[in-house]
Amino acid sequence: MGPDALEDRRFVGYRRKLIEEIRARGVEDLEILQLFDRVPRHHFLPEGMWPRAYEDAPIPIGFGQTASQPSLQAHYLELLRPKADEKVLEIGTGCGYLTALLSLMADRVYSVERVRELSTKARRALDAFGVKNVALMVGDGTIGWKKYAPFDVIVVSAASPSVPPALVDQLADGGRMLIPVGARDVQELVLVQKTGFAVTQETVEGAVTFVPLLGRFAWTEEAGE
Ligand code: SAH
Repeated sequence: MGPDALEDRRFVGYRRKLIEEIRARGVEDLEILQLFDRVPRHHFLPEGMWPRAYEDAPIPIGFGQTASQPSLQAHYLELLRPKADEKVLEIGTGCGYLTALLSLMADRVYSVERVRELSTKARRALDAFGVKNVALMVGDGTIGWKKYAPFDVIVVSAASPSVPPALVDQLADGGRMLIPVGARDVQELVLVQKTGFAVTQETVEGAVTFVPLLGRFAWTEEAGE
């Protein structure tokens, strides 16, 4: 199943409406808004979810996981602004939709997912979409992906009780990371920036809710089940 041009035409109107909603939520950057026009979200979602693919809402993708809300992802992209020559690390590939958006902005995207089936599906969707600059790995993202470090941008799409130290280590000079930090039911979006040896941390948004980051430097699986 590849992005079929005819099939896709059915969704164009919905996609425009989604972009209007993202704009209404304060993301004005045209370059970012256009990305949401270029990436067909439904192709990354289970077919049963296609009727809801262009709602500005989190959508279930199986395995107890959800694709994040598009306006929140747009906000992520606006805050992080990966550049054309930069390397990005994403933790929590999920369905691969944000991965696709990132791949259109950055030079290379490395994405780690703990659920093998999700990673496999994301790979298929990304290949069908035609991106060539994305590497996926199945594993625990709380330890990062040392082989390709350092990264200019790190995007964490699951919530953590604290900032995993390995991710800070793997941030490049001038690097920035967004991660939801807090309790299991509600978190704050934290922006971590590194300049030389100095690391700063600030809250950029309160009261966000993400699925838990499960791993060595986050929550244990048992606590969640
Ligand atoms: N951006 C994705 C978000 C998916 S939800 C999307 O829009 O589809 C977050 C994902 O993080 C889930 O797929 C979950 O399985 C994954 N995850 C949770 N803990 C992880 C960990 N330690 N390492 C890698 N992925 C993890």
